[in-house]
This record gives sequence, structure tokens and C-alpha cells, in this order.
Amino acid sequence: MTELYKLSIHEAGQLLRDKKISSVELTQAHLDRVREVEPQVKAFTLITDELALQQAQEADKRFASGENVHPLTGIPIAIKDVICTKDITTTAGSRMLEHFKPPYNATVMERLNEAGIVMIGKTNMDEFAMGSSTEHSAFFPTKNPWDLERAPGGSSGGSAAAVAAGMAMGSYGSDTGGSIRQPGALCNLIGLKPTYGRVSRFGLIAFASSLDQIGPFARNARDAAILLQAVAGYDKCDSTSSPVDVQNYGAALNGSIKGMRIGVPEEYMIEGTQPGVAQAVQENIERLREMGAEIVSVSLPHTKYGVAAYYIIAPAEASSNLSRYDGIKYGYSYRDTTDLWEGMEKTREFGFGSEVKRRIMLGTYALSAGYYDAYYKRAEKIRTLIKQDFDKAFETVDALVSATSPTVAFKIGEISDPYQMYLNDIFTIPANLAGICGVSIPGGFSEGLPVGMQLLGNTFKEDTLLRIADAFEQVTDYHTRWPQALATV
Ligand code: GLN
Repeated sequence: MTELYKLSIHEAGQLLRDKKISSVELTQAHLDRVREVEPQVKAFTLITDELALQQAQEADKRFASGENVHPLTGIPIAIKDVICTKDITTTAGSRMLEHFKPPYNATVMERLNEAGIVMIGKTNMDEFAMGSSTEHSAFFPTKNPWDLERAPGGSSGGSAAAVAAGMAMGSYGSDTGGSIRQPGALCNLIGLKPTYGRVSRFGLIAFASSLDQIGPFARNARDAAILLQAVAGYDKCDSTSSPVDVQNYGAALNGSIKGMRIGVPEEYMIEGTQPGVAQAVQENIERLREMGAEIVSVSLPHTKYGVAAYYIIAPAEASSNLSRYDGIKYGYSYRDTTDLWEGMEKTREFGFGSEVKRRIMLGTYALSAGYYDAYYKRAEKIRTLIKQDFDKAFETVDALVSATSPTVAFKIGEISDPYQMYLNDIFTIPANLAGICGVSIPGGFSEGLPVGMQLLGNTFKEDTLLRIADAFEQVTDYHTRWPQALATV
């Protein structure tokens, strides 16, 4: 049999249910893999090995009794360190929360625990999910398993690297402007951002509340369907979660996209996209046509304002959300003073990293009297126009296709200008502003590095995206490849 860590979730699930393998064996194989490759990749802020083995034993009991078995029972999963885990350190990649043990679980965690997952650990991320490289983690950068000198993308870089390196079978991240899809692209994974409201945000440490969404990383569409199914649906603890019925994502994977209409937004075909990326996407579009889809050109005319609007709205919401870190309520606290104000100032001076401070300043400025109308209000108007562009496009197409990121994985330290870093999300940001769903799927390679292809779908059309992703996997082998950089270790 192939190494256990190379199995897909659906294969492993079958073997577990047939009692051909145990969850303890499967978990041990992953912990061995962690021991072998984690020192180079550095995907985790915390490895919960003892808990994992305990949960694996619990899972094996479920299989023995045949009761309460879920497609994720006994499956090793990694969790981005921005999702609250009861009594288990949840740092959000920040000094501010370095020792923070949440007194409750995120709803997503509650659902996963009920399903009986095995949690391998918490994964590294850009501080408070602000970034596209995981270099802004307060602790250490994560390396891309495809080339250890390169970044895995971000902000959910640890969640992506863990799955790409075989240290977890699937993982969860959060996507505010691209933080699941972009690292998914750079690490050759499926990275899915659900429709806003599809997955509960209760217990997700907030960055920008009107944009944040939790979603899965997987090595194939079927696994992504299982991971999304397990967490999707209304939650009374999150008033922005949607009561719309959750589809059966597995059933949507019927292998065919015949007759589907897929739009190519002309505004997403821009100069500045690396030629290798543009070429791979072009070839994939041809492939979608050969598979029976009708390819049509569409226009999303307000795309060019997306990044600018996002970098007003997201920092504005962040400046409000992050005001709670004052050294008094919880988290890091500067104590070497008797002055209350100095205590708060120093807490925030030492507790936050430079990118987070930049965002807080941008956001506070944009919201301040005199500037609110000029910046924040205008950005919100652009947001509406971007949403209307998508509404119009989805009147005639089932999905949109583009590159996920204009480049393949860049070198750690290569991008020092914050604005250049922000431009990484040029193709991913509009979906967050509009609240629609999107996925990055393995779309080929350029100079040995993965290229991600993005599919965007209308609200609650995750089933359509997963169907296309699954059908695409039937005619390509990109998703089956493993990073060579780790093979010799
Ligand atoms: N890179 C974007 C930012 O820095 C998006 C991050 C995210 O989706 N969390 O804001």
C-alpha cells in the first residue's frame, strides 16, 4: 500500500470503515511525517500529538461500534491558528495572543469534534490573517513544500503547507481577500472560500467581519466536498450565517460539465501576470471547452477598483475589531507601569507587528471624521458596483475562470513593498467584496512551481465549483503530484 499519509480523505475513510486500517495507524503515519518534514516546512504553531492519538483511539471505538461514523471520523486535520480551540492555544500568529487559551470552541471546531476528527495541530499564519506570504507571522515564516526558499502564500500558509507536505489530510483556513485561494494556488491544492454566511464565523478571530469566511484546503475536489459539508450551515451564534439549505456537495460531483457556461472575465487577463501562469490558464480554458463547457467572454468593469476598495474596507473593519486588544481584557498586557494609558499604548506597541499596525492606521484614518465620506463611503459604493458586475455576469454564466494569483510562489523576503504584496490578491479580492464563492484548483506548473486556477461561482453555488473541479481532475493529473523538495528528506 502507498504511504498512509498520501491517501486522500475519501480513500482513508473507506479503509477505516472497512477496518483495513485504524485511525491510530493513520494518525501515527502523519505524526511520523510531521517529525520528518516539519523542521523544514514549519507549518505549525502547535503540534497536538497527544490529543491527536487520544482522538484517534476515540475514533477507532466509533468504528468498532459502527455508531456515529462520519466521513471525517479518525481523519488527521490541521486548523489555522485563528480558529478558537477550547483550552488550546490560539495565537492568530500574534504576540498579542501568544498565550491565549480560548474558553470556548469555534462553531466549526464543535462540528469537527462531533464528526470525530483527529486534530494534528494549529497552523501558522500572517498575524491576524493580514498578509499573502505567512512572513508576517510574529513567530517564524512557513516554507513552501514545493521549494523551501519560497513562501507558501498567505495568510493561511501553514494550513496549505501542512496538507501539501502530507502532514495533514486536509485543513481549514480563513479567507478575507484571498487567504485560502492564494496559498492553495501556490501549494497545488484545492482551496475553497465559501459564500459569505455559508460557514459560521463564531469563534473565528475577526479580521474584517464583512469579508471573513472559513473554508477548507484539500488535495482533491471530493475531499474538499467532505470538508466543506462538515462545517457548512446556519449557526445561531453567528447572525450573519445563512439559513439557506446546505447542498449535498458529494452528490454534485457527477464528472460532467457538458453544457455549462463558463465566463472568462476580460479584466482578469492583465499584463503583469507571469507568462507561465497566463499560458497554463489559457490551456486549461481550452481543456474546459473540450470537456463540453461553453466558454464565453464576460466583463466585470469595476474590477480595477477592487484592491483599492478592499484596502479601505478591510483595514477599517480591522481597526475596529482590533481595538479590543488593550492589555486589560485578555491577551498580552504590558504591566511595567502604573499609568492606564501608557499600559494600553505599550501593550499595542509591543503586541502588534508592523503590518497589523499599518492596517490599524489605514483603517482608523479612513474612518475618521472628515475622511469617512471620501474613503470609506466611496469604497462601500465600489463594493456595490463590484457585486452588481458579478450579478450581471451570473445571469448568463454558471462560473467564471481566471488565474488565482498573478504569479507562482515567490521567494521568502522577495517582496518588501507592502503595496506589491497587496497586489497578490488582485484576482481574489473581488469575490470577498461581493460575498460570492470561489475556489483555487491545481492548474498546472510553471518552472516546476504550481499554478492555481480560480473558479468563481454565484452565492451558494459551491456545488457548481466543486463539480467543475472534480471533472477537471478526471482529465488532468496536476492534483496527484507531490512536492519533490521533500522527497529526499
Ligand atoms: N492578503 C490579503 C490581506 O492581506 C488577504 C488576507 C486574507 O484573506 N486574510 O489582507
